[in-house]
Amino acid sequence: MDTDFDVVVIGAGFAGLYAIHKLREAGFTARAYEKGDGVGGTWFWNRYPGARVDIQSCEYMFTKFAELEQEWDWTELMPAQGEIERYLNFVADRLDLRRDIQLETAVTAMTYDDASATWAVETSTGERVVSKYVIAATGCLSAPIEPAIDGLRSFSGDTLFTNRFPKEGYDFTGKRVAVVGTGSSGVQSIPVIAAQAAHLTVLQRSAAYSLPSPNRKLNDGELAALKAEYPEIRKAQWESPIGSARFGAVFQGQIELPNILDTPWEEQLQRVDALGVLAAFVWNDVRTDIEANRAAVRLYGEAIKRIVHDPETAEDLVPHYPFGCKRIIIDEGYYPTYNRDNVRLVNLRKHPIEKVVPQGIQLDDELIEVDVIVYATGFDAMTGSLSRIDIRGRDDRRLAAEWKESPRAYLGLQVAGFPNLFTVTGPGSPSVLTNMVTSIEHHVEWITECISHLRDNELRTIEADAGAQDEWADHLITHATPIQVHDTCNSWYLGANVPGKTRTYMPYAGGLTVYMEQCAELTAAGYKGFVLA
Ligand code: NAP
Repeated sequence: MDTDFDVVVIGAGFAGLYAIHKLREAGFTARAYEKGDGVGGTWFWNRYPGARVDIQSCEYMFTKFAELEQEWDWTELMPAQGEIERYLNFVADRLDLRRDIQLETAVTAMTYDDASATWAVETSTGERVVSKYVIAATGCLSAPIEPAIDGLRSFSGDTLFTNRFPKEGYDFTGKRVAVVGTGSSGVQSIPVIAAQAAHLTVLQRSAAYSLPSPNRKLNDGELAALKAEYPEIRKAQWESPIGSARFGAVFQGQIELPNILDTPWEEQLQRVDALGVLAAFVWNDVRTDIEANRAAVRLYGEAIKRIVHDPETAEDLVPHYPFGCKRIIIDEGYYPTYNRDNVRLVNLRKHPIEKVVPQGIQLDDELIEVDVIVYATGFDAMTGSLSRIDIRGRDDRRLAAEWKESPRAYLGLQVAGFPNLFTVTGPGSPSVLTNMVTSIEHHVEWITECISHLRDNELRTIEADAGAQDEWADHLITHATPIQVHDTCNSWYLGANVPGKTRTYMPYAGGLTVYMEQCAELTAAGYKGFVLA
């Protein structure tokens, strides 16, 4: 059957852009559909004040473009949203990718036809195109959650979401603001909003673990020196289990790690004197032993007390779940913000939200009147962006229904029952536990080589074997630590932040290097675990 394109790519963030480039290089025709009116994916949508990556700029870029990387100038150690968005636009222009990208077009439905081994893809603009393959470059954190709070839409002031922040920005000057949510997005935006607003109320359901960012402007000559070092930096990145050899720099070179359980309290406090909140985490035993973890949380509380003057606020800022359950946040001035006269923390565990009303937020015992509410309430992670598309595979199987029961994908690359559909950094891959750029590059290259193999060997389809997929799902569980799956851990890694979502640890925690070796071995063994026809 004739197709419109060899491949439809969904999304034009890091993954979609790289996919178009690699597909073109391999001689395939491709069309990327992007629902935003610009490229950038995560870095297009999450333009809230303070948005910044937690990976160093020299590693948060495509690693295989020797010429291009020399042309791009980062200005900061850990770049902010605007600079990353500009970088992705630069890549799109330099590689001439835009002619294969259709903006302001969401994929709404996809149906697999067994007879022709093709996908019929429908879009929000009413188009219907047919392709042999679909690459879902939809991102792990791109399906926003609107919190289930009564009256959300009844508010008469401005309602903003960090993950769909207005393109033109928002001026908080003179405004009374409420921020709901204290995950990475909330924690990053709170200091910036506090500095502008007349008054800020932070509504916190779960406290965060957050470390001061080492971010700074790159010094004179530093970028040139980094550029000269790019080949070594790339080598180290690809040898790192998290796709970043420099991530640990945030731990400020703390390499000597005693056990917290063997260290007297006075000595623990001395480390707080030297390191601040970081002191709670630089112990050998905190990531594996729950008792050690509890000791670290106690120490964390001590460190916060030394920064935050009001004792009740300091107490409320200590998390009730283990350190390591969620990704640690990197902030710029988060805890000191609570010493400002115009900032107040409300602990929603003591005073829950009853509803949103036209004037503001009604708690059990108080009405908080505000002009603006900012929701930093997160995402239906890893599966949400694809579950929201009506995807029907072989025998009319619905992806959303299958993932509701159990969000699984073999190697995070393919789902049984959905031939020739590929998921970039899907559930079951290291993805969000690594530098996303490195994981994306690995997946896109694997997928491009795979469909080249199908073409060169005149094969029509590839599909994950259901048995191999189940075994992989069981294998995933063995890598998650007791802390990552602890009863008190309600992370999005577990899907625990979405009401009704099956609780299971979705990313592969065995490390990127081990994972890549496994992918390579299975591929060399004739795509073991996949069915090729
Ligand atoms: P998040 O980590 O899921 O945080 C959402 C916050 O909203 C949580 O504090 C949550 O509380 C709260 N919340 C949700 N529903 C609520 C409700 N109905 N009432 C009150 N509070 C509610 O989401 P995020 O901050 O957007 O971050 C998601 C991920 O994106 C991060 O983990 C990170 O991987 C990535 N990210 C990275 C960066 C970076 O690298 N610098 C920056 C931003 C985001 P509960 O915990 O109690 O549910």
